[in-house]
Amino acid sequence: MTNKYIYFIANWKMFGGLKTLNSLNKVISFSKNYGKYKFKIIYCPPTTLIHNLSQKFKQSSIEVGAQNCNENLEYTSLTGQINSKMLRDVGAKYIILGHSENRLNGESNKLINKKIKSSLKSGLRVIVCIGETLSEKRKNKTKRVLSNQIKSCLKGIKNLSNIVIAYEPVWAIGTGLIPKMDNLTKNIFFIKNSIKNKSTKVLYGGSVNIKNIKDLKKIKIIDGFLIGGESRNSKKFIDIIKKTFN
Ligand code: PEP
Repeated sequence: MTNKYIYFIANWKMFGGLKTLNSLNKVISFSKNYGKYKFKIIYCPPTTLIHNLSQKFKQSSIEVGAQNCNENLEYTSLTGQINSKMLRDVGAKYIILGHSENRLNGESNKLINKKIKSSLKSGLRVIVCIGETLSEKRKNKTKRVLSNQIKSCLKGIKNLSNIVIAYEPVWAIGTGLIPKMDNLTKNIFFIKNSIKNKSTKVLYGGSVNIKNIKDLKKIKIIDGFLIGGESRNSKKFIDIIKKTFN
């Protein structure tokens, strides 16, 4: 790809248990032996595994992130909820917020904005997911949706240095479909131009796999990939990283 650091973020969603962790040894040794490539690997496992993974990755450059949090920074009586301070406490350095699977469950831009602010306060770097649904795409509303998500989610946040944007068209997640290369390029440009901080990283996510990475890597303005399904298999995940550079 290029000379810049490329992000590879593994979103494990609600998968994985203690037994899965040995398979990550491969990824640790890969990350240590491929110093010639400039990449950043971040694993976002379910909350139950954040502490284990942060311990496991201690002697490596791999970092750990969470997948969501409650927006409250105070310790309070909210059964079943976890805030960003607690996630930081068990080793998370990043957090994915605004994932479409949570937006579909009713998470609004306003709530995502609160979560982003509280996560930044806790010292987490935030990966903000944005993207249009299939019906919005069909109605040619993609740019309007993206622009609105960016404005509302980042409202009142002056320092964007700890924000990464992941462009994830909702219709591309887990479907095997990806955008046409020219559309994707235009949308990434549009997102970059809509953000005040010109050095903000913009990633692509949605059905990234070992085959389509050959095309995706040609889009040089993409700063990395958020990978769901294919990140749960260490070999496939490593192969995607290798293919990005070869
Ligand atoms: C995701 O859920 O963030 C994602 C990109 O999933 P998948 O790679 O499985 O489409």
